[in-house]
Amino acid sequence: MRRTATGTRPATELLTTIAAFGAALFGAAETARADLDSCVARLRAEAIRAGVSRSVANAALGKVSFDERAVRFSRTQPESITPIWDYMAFLVDKERLVDGAAMMRRHGQTLARVERAYGVDRHVILALWGIESDFGRKVGDFFVPHAMANVICARRNPKFFRRELIHLLKIVSRGDVKLGDLQGSWAGAFGQTQFMPSTYTRLAVDFDRDGRRDLVNSVPDALASAANFLRRSGWRKGLAWGWEVRAPRGFRGRYATRKLNRVRFRPLDDWGKRGFTDFKGRPVRGRVPAALVMPAGPRGPAFLVTRNFRAIYSYNVAVSYALAISHLSDRLRGGKRFRVGWPTNDPGLSRRQRLELQKLLLRAGYDIGKADGRIGPITVAAIKSAQKRHGMKPDGRPSMRLYKALGGGS
Ligand code: CA
Repeated sequence: MRRTATGTRPATELLTTIAAFGAALFGAAETARADLDSCVARLRAEAIRAGVSRSVANAALGKVSFDERAVRFSRTQPESITPIWDYMAFLVDKERLVDGAAMMRRHGQTLARVERAYGVDRHVILALWGIESDFGRKVGDFFVPHAMANVICARRNPKFFRRELIHLLKIVSRGDVKLGDLQGSWAGAFGQTQFMPSTYTRLAVDFDRDGRRDLVNSVPDALASAANFLRRSGWRKGLAWGWEVRAPRGFRGRYATRKLNRVRFRPLDDWGKRGFTDFKGRPVRGRVPAALVMPAGPRGPAFLVTRNFRAIYSYNVAVSYALAISHLSDRLRGGKRFRVGWPTNDPGLSRRQRLELQKLLLRAGYDIGKADGRIGPITVAAIKSAQKRHGMKPDGRPSMRLYKALGGGS
C-alpha cells in the first residue's frame, strides 16, 4: 500500500485505499478457501490410498469449512504453567468425588470385571475416566475429522496429524464407531478415554463383545481399554501407585517436578537409608523400586512413586496429571488428603468455584460472556483487571483470594 504524509491525504484517496485494502483482504480469504479445499482433497485421496473406504473419506472430509478456533488452539502455547495446587483443586474436587461414588455404584460390576481381566485397580480406572471425560460426559466439542483437517492444512505438525487422521478414518471404516460420534478435541483425542486415534487402533478392546470397539458409546469398552492401556504401560497388579513420605530436612538430591524422565527408581530401602520416612518417623522400607516426586519443590509434599505411577503418567506425560489420577483414586477409595499442604497461601478453586468466580466477575461488571466454568483468555483478562482493582498481583490466576475478594463463599 502506498503511503502518504499523515493528515494531507484527501478523503477520496483514503476511501480508495480502504476499498483496495478490503479487496486485498477478500482476495486473501478466497485464496485461503481454495487452499483449504485443495488441501482437503489431497487428504481425502491420501486416506483412500491408505485403505480408508471411499464413502467414509468422502463423508468425513466432504465439505470442510475453515475452523478458526481449531487452528488457533493448535497454535496456542500455554503461556504459563498452571500451579499444581490449581490443577489439583479442579481435577480432584468434591463434585468429582460425589460423581465418582455414584459411578462406582452404577458401574461397579463392570469395573470389577475389568479389574479381574486386566489386574488394574478399579479406583484408578474410575479416576482416569473421571478426569479424561468427566465420566463420559465431556468428550470435547470439535468434530474431530474437520478440526484435524484444519490443523493439518494450517501446517501444524502435519505429518503426525495426517497419520492420526488416517487412523481415525480407519476406525470408522472398520465400523467401530460412527462418523457422527467423532466429537473430541481439536488434536484428535476422542471418546470416553480420550485416546488418540493411533492409541485407539493399538489398544482399544471390545469388552462387551458386540463386535465393535466403541469407546464413545460403550462404558465397558471404554473402561477396559483404559485398563488395557495401563497394563501395556507396565502396570503391576496389587502394587500401590506410591506413597506420600517425609523427606529429610535439607534434602539436596534429584527429584521430579513436572516430568519423570530424569529421576532414578531405587528400592524403598535405599530411600529409607537416605532419611525418607513415613509420618510416624519410621524409615521407608521394602524392595519396590520408587522415584522421588516433589511437584512443588522441597516446601511441598513429597511422594515416592512406583512403576504404576509411571504407567498412569504415560497416558498423558505430566507428573501433575499422574498425581491427580493417583490422588483421586485414593480419595474414591475413601483415602485422605495429602498430609503436607501445598506451599501457597492462595489456594486454587474447584470447578464449582471457578464457575462462581465467573458469575462474580459478571456481577462486578466484567463482560466475559456466559459463565461456563472455562477459564479462557477473556476470563483471564477480566481476572487480571479485577486483581489490579483489588490491589493484587495481576497474574490472571483464578485463585481463592480473588474469589473471596469478589464476595465468593468457600
Ligand atoms: Ca463393544
